[in-house]
Amino acid sequence: MSVRPIVMLGDPRLRLKGLPVDSFGRPLHELLDDLAHTMRDAPGVGLAAPQLGEAVQACVIEVSDQLHELVNPMIVRATGDDRDLEGCLSLPGYYAYVTRRERVWVVAQNRFGRKIKVAGSGLLGRALQHELDHLEGKLFIDYLDSMDELIPVGASDEDEASAVPVAALG
Ligand code: ZN
Repeated sequence: MSVRPIVMLGDPRLRLKGLPVDSFGRPLHELLDDLAHTMRDAPGVGLAAPQLGEAVQACVIEVSDQLHELVNPMIVRATGDDRDLEGCLSLPGYYAYVTRRERVWVVAQNRFGRKIKVAGSGLLGRALQHELDHLEGKLFIDYLDSMDELIPVGASDEDEASAVPVAALG
C-alpha cells in the first residue's frame, strides 16, 4: 500500500472514461488500497482511480469513519436537489457551489466482485456523485458557468469556504 501522486487539473488522464473492471484479483486490491491510503494522506473524503492515472471504474469514499470501496458503480436512483460547496483533490485550494441530487442510491461491486448497494445524502451523497463523475472523466468545474465561480480557500474568514467538512471531496 502506498501514497501515490494525485493527477492534477490539466492532465488529460483526468478526462479519460474509466474502463469496467472485470478482474478482481491482486492488481485491483492494490489499486483500492492505494486509493484509500492516498485519500487519507491528502486528506480527502474520496478518491477515484483516474486521479491516480488509472482509467478504470473504481473509487473509494470515506465518510463517518466508514470506508466504501466501489467497483463498477452506477447510480440507480436519485431524489431531490442540494446546493453546497464542493472541492476536489485534483484542484486543491478552490471550491464552488454545485447543485447535485440530494440523495442517491448506488449499485456497485466490492473488491471481490460481489454486488453491493450504498445510499447516501449530505456529504456521502455528494461524494458518491463527485467520485462517480471522475470515472466518466467529469469534474465539478464542468457544472460551473465560469471559472469565476471558483472560491479560493480562505478568501474570507467568515466565508463558508473555510469550513472543513467541504474540504476536497476527492
Ligand atoms: Zn474530485
